[in-house]
Amino acid sequence: MALNPVLGKLVSKRVVLASASPRRQEILTNVGLRFEVVPSWFKETLEKSSFAAPYEYAVETAKQKALEVANRMHVKHLRTPDIVIGADTIVSVDEQILEKPVDKQDAYRMLSRLSGKEHSVFTGVAIIHCSSKGNQLETEITDFYEETKVKFSDLSEELLWEYIHSGEPMDKAGGYGIQALGGMLVEYVHGDFLNVVGFPLNHFCKKLAELYYPPPKHTVQHIKHDSIPSVDTFENLSDGESESSNFTEHKGANKLDSSRMCPSRPVYNCENSSSVRTGFTVPLENQNGASESAAKLPSKILDLMDGFKASKALFVASKLKMFDYLKTKGPLKAVDVANEVGTSVCGTERLLDACVALGLLEKTSQGYSNTDSANTYLTSDGEYSLHGYIIHSNDHLWPLFTNLESAVREGSRQNHRAFGRKAEDLFKDYYHSQEVKQRFMAAMHSIAHLTARDVATAFDLSQFKSTCDLGGCTGALAHELIQIYPNMKVTVFDLPEVIANISYFQPSEQCAAPVTFVSGDFFKDNLPEADLYILSRVLHDWPDEKIHVLLSKISAVCKPGSALLVAEIVLDEQKTHPARAVLQSLSMTEGKQRSGSEYKQLLEKYGFTDVQIKITGTLLDAVLCFKKNLSP
Ligand code: SAM
Repeated sequence: MALNPVLGKLVSKRVVLASASPRRQEILTNVGLRFEVVPSWFKETLEKSSFAAPYEYAVETAKQKALEVANRMHVKHLRTPDIVIGADTIVSVDEQILEKPVDKQDAYRMLSRLSGKEHSVFTGVAIIHCSSKGNQLETEITDFYEETKVKFSDLSEELLWEYIHSGEPMDKAGGYGIQALGGMLVEYVHGDFLNVVGFPLNHFCKKLAELYYPPPKHTVQHIKHDSIPSVDTFENLSDGESESSNFTEHKGANKLDSSRMCPSRPVYNCENSSSVRTGFTVPLENQNGASESAAKLPSKILDLMDGFKASKALFVASKLKMFDYLKTKGPLKAVDVANEVGTSVCGTERLLDACVALGLLEKTSQGYSNTDSANTYLTSDGEYSLHGYIIHSNDHLWPLFTNLESAVREGSRQNHRAFGRKAEDLFKDYYHSQEVKQRFMAAMHSIAHLTARDVATAFDLSQFKSTCDLGGCTGALAHELIQIYPNMKVTVFDLPEVIANISYFQPSEQCAAPVTFVSGDFFKDNLPEADLYILSRVLHDWPDEKIHVLLSKISAVCKPGSALLVAEIVLDEQKTHPARAVLQSLSMTEGKQRSGSEYKQLLEKYGFTDVQIKITGTLLDAVLCFKKNLSP
C-alpha cells in the first residue's frame, strides 16, 4: 500500500488521537495507523466571530483540542506522547458555521438551511510533535485544513424529519453523516469524501510525507506536492538525506526492491503471481476469474476475527484485578503483578502486553501502568467502574455466546447448555444462587450508574412529584433522579430477593431525600402510586404476553397526565443499529429490541400518547409518553 512507508514512520511512536469520534478512529485504523485515543476536554467554545474565515476556526479548535491532550498527558499523567493529532469538522453555509446540533429542533434548523444548496465542510487538523525537556513540554505544531463542497437535494419536510428521528444527526457537524443515512440527502460531493466523514486522510498523509521526507533543497522547485507521491516515490524515500531523496531521478527505479518499502512488515512482490501477497494487498479473482489486486486489508473483518480474544483478555485481566493493583501500585513489572495476583510470570507478561496492545495499559521502562480509561472504568472500586458488568460478561454471557450456534439453530436461550439448568424465566436463572444474583446486581448497577444521568436528563422531569422505578434494582437511577430533582420522591420496586440485597450498592454519602425500596412482583402485585413510572432495561427482556400484563397494569394505575419513561437502546428503523443492541438480542431471551416506531406503537396501544423519543447517543436512549387525558 502506497501510504505504508509514511505511516510506517509512526510505528515506533506513541501516537495519540485527541478525538472520541468513532469515524476518525475508523479512518485511521483502516490504514493501519496504531494510536491511543484520548478524547480532548477542550470545550468547543472559541468565539466564531473572531475568525476571519470558517476554516480558521476549525484549525484553531483542532489545535486547542490536541494541545489540551498533550498538556494533560504530560502534566497529569507524566507520560508525554510523541504525536497528538487533533481534528475539528465544521459545516459552513452562507458564511455561518454549523457544528453539532444540540437537539432535534436544532438539527431541523441546520438541515433546512442546507436543503437544496451547496455548502462547505472544513476539517481543521493539528499534528503536534511533543517532547519533554526537563519538566517542560515542548511542542511543534503543524496544521492544515481541507475543504469539501457538498450539495444537498431539496429535502421534503417528511424526509427531513424521518432523518432527524433516525437519531443520526445528533453527534455530527451540520447535522448529517454522509457515510450512512445522510448520504441519501447528498446530490454531489466535490473534494475529499473522507473529509466530510471527519478526517482528510489524503491531505494528512501528504503532510506526513512533507514532515518525514522533506525534499532536498535542490529539488524543491521541481516537485509539486499536490498529490500523494506514488508507491515508487515512497519506496525511494529515505529520511531525506541519501541518494534516494531525489524523487524524479529514482521514480520507478526500484519497483521490485521491496525490501525497502516498510521496515516493520514483510513485503512480497505481487506483480507476477496470484499466490503471493503484499502486506496490504491481496489478489482477488473477479467474475471472469481474472486476478486483480484490488482489496485492501479487511481490517474490520480481521478485528472481528480477533474480537473474542480481545474481550477475553479484558475479562481475565479484570477478573484477576490487575487494573486494581496497577492503580494503587503501578507502574509494576510483570513479575510484581504476577506476585500480587498469584499467576505465572510468563502468562502475566503476555496478558499485560496484550492489554497494552489493546490500549488498556501503558508500558514504559518502569513497568506497566493503567491508562486513564482503565483507572476510571476497569478498577473495581471506581465510581464509574464497569467491573461488575465485565465479570457478568465473562461468567454469564461468555458461556451463553459459546452456544450461539445452538441458539440460532433452535431459536432459544441456551442456559441449559451453558449452565446445566433452564429456569422458567431469565431472573429465576440469575437469582437461583446468592453468588450469581450478587454478580448480576453488580453488573446492572455498573451500567445503570454510568447511564443514569443521561436517562434522568433526557427529558425535563421536574414536573413529576413522585416516581416509581419498576425493576429499579439497586437504585442507581433513583439516586441520580433525586440528585437532579431534589423535590422528587422516588420509589424503587423490585423482586424481594433483590431488595433484600441492595445495601451494598447504596451511596455512602447522605442524599437530599432517601430512596424508598418496595419489594414485589410487577406482574402480580399492586404497583406503588406515582405520577411518573420508569421501566429501564425491562421491556426488552420479556415476551409480548408478559409485556401486555405489565403495560396494562401500569396504564391502569396511571392517572391522566401521569407519564411513563422507558429507557432502552432504541434501534434505527431498519433494526440493524446500534450494534450493541443487535448483538445483545443474540442471547435469545424471549424479549426483543425495538425501533422508535415500534416503541411508539406499543405504548400507544396501552393508552399512552405524545410519545417522545430521545436518542442520547450514549448507552441508553429514552422514550417518554403520557397517559391520555380522559376524553372531554
Ligand atoms: N432497571 C435496572 C437498570 O436499568 O439497570 C435493572 C434492569 S434489569 C435488566 C431488570 C430488573 O427487573 C432486575 O432488577 C430484576 O430484578 C427486575 N425484575 C425482573 N422481574 C421482575 C418482576 N416480576 N417484578 C419486579 N421486578 C422484576
